[in-house]
Amino acid sequence: MLYHSTRNRQLSVTAAEAIAQGIAADGGLFVPESIPELSAADFDALKGLSYAERAARLFHLYLTDFTLDELRECTNAAYASGSFETENVQEIATLADGTMLLELWHGPTCAFKDMALQILPHFLTRSAKKSGVDREIVILTATSGDTGKAALAGFKDVPGTRIMVFYPEDGVSSMQKRQMQTQEGENVRVCAVKGNFDDCQNGVKAIFTDPEMQAALAANGMQFSSANSINWGRLAPQIVYYVSAYVTMLEKGILKPGERFSLTVPTGNFGNILAAWYAKQMGVPMQHLVCASNINRVLTDFIRTGTYNRNREFHATVSPSMDILISSNLERLLYHMTHEDDAQIREWFGALKNEGSYTIPRELCERIQAEFSGSFWDDAQTKEMIGKVFGENGYLSDTHTAVGICAAREYQASAVEKLPMLVASTANPYKFGNAVLEAVDTVPADADEYAVLDLLQAKSGMCIPKALAELKTKPVRFTDSVAQDEMPAYVKAKLGIV
Ligand SMILES: *Cc1c(COP(=O)(O)O)cnc(C)c1O
Repeated sequence: MLYHSTRNRQLSVTAAEAIAQGIAADGGLFVPESIPELSAADFDALKGLSYAERAARLFHLYLTDFTLDELRECTNAAYASGSFETENVQEIATLADGTMLLELWHGPTCAFKDMALQILPHFLTRSAKKSGVDREIVILTATSGDTGKAALAGFKDVPGTRIMVFYPEDGVSSMQKRQMQTQEGENVRVCAVKGNFDDCQNGVKAIFTDPEMQAALAANGMQFSSANSINWGRLAPQIVYYVSAYVTMLEKGILKPGERFSLTVPTGNFGNILAAWYAKQMGVPMQHLVCASNINRVLTDFIRTGTYNRNREFHATVSPSMDILISSNLERLLYHMTHEDDAQIREWFGALKNEGSYTIPRELCERIQAEFSGSFWDDAQTKEMIGKVFGENGYLSDTHTAVGICAAREYQASAVEKLPMLVASTANPYKFGNAVLEAVDTVPADADEYAVLDLLQAKSGMCIPKALAELKTKPVRFTDSVAQDEMPAYVKAKLGIV
């Protein structure tokens, strides 16, 4: 299987090249030339297998320049090595009203990003070898909080790689900041940016695509790659968990073969929900995809009107990993849904860059609406839902997942056809402890982030994840902070390039 750029379909690369490069030189995203389809028998054949084995077989459909055994090495290292808390890697919880939650946060950093970032380093180092890259790989990552920590955990001390993470100074939760500032490893570096997530992401993209910067790295035996969800190596593992979740629902008898269900995904960069859309194209019988947002409602507006407009106020919310105004992965969806009209994609994404907005034709908007709907929820509604779910089920959900539950309930209430609803549960509630505790109890004025964890545990009986509890005694290693325009110089200085 070959991969094209969304901005130039004549450009063809192998999976290994797509993963090693991260983003196409023309600024486009790599997309598969076709989407493999699975039959009922194919789904059956995945029953009874471990997560690692299922994943290897599914990756083999997309990463065709890897052998099945190479993929098994990768999936065993990522999913069968004990870094996930549960043997199944992902779990499904069911609420009293029948809503199912796909818990994707049992990995080492307590957010769904681990599902992809535990395996990406294995893909990336092998991809580099396959595509003849013998330079040191420098991972440059912008994070709204969770990607950064998950990428640091995945790439920590991986030979042949270095990783630098930029996060918005005041745009992450105190626990997220702690997780990053205390990161161990010889090849890691973390820096705050005075700005929001989009400033971080724009800063990183500018460095990536700067020819002078690329030349400077090459002269020093280095090359950039990306751990953001623009990298196909991030998206493929996310497709896998939706297919695997479907097989698990079949195994458990929650669904009969061919029976349809709907899915809600709390969305920021549009990566997680796009992975679900790919799984749907592969044959997972999803009826409808609900795109849940916080008050940074740019995607809700886009789905409802066909105009994407990032010229609006940016809001910091209790679901910071969705505080995003530029949802990069939408470009992939539009590429597929315009039947690979790369000229059109260049025009829209050029307009997004230059004017901050673009509008798709009505006909296309209607086709998107046939598959997706969107809704947005503010912090008060989010917390109210956390309280409600806890009251009804004794179950704690994190702020992002709660936004998803709000959207799922609203969709179900008005849906003509009542189908089972699965909600992607994207983080462990302790990661956003302050907001979650506020939702179920009162937060004492003098409580620091660790006292909050203890109070939440006392209230809910749910165990504090070890990875968060142990941060308390870890030394803070990284306190640097720069403005967006200082990022290139910072990167050069820390890489030792002049
Ligand atoms: C990253 C993240 C999201 C948003 O996912 P996208 O793929 O960016 O849409 C939602 N919830 C949590 C907890 C996250 O870390």
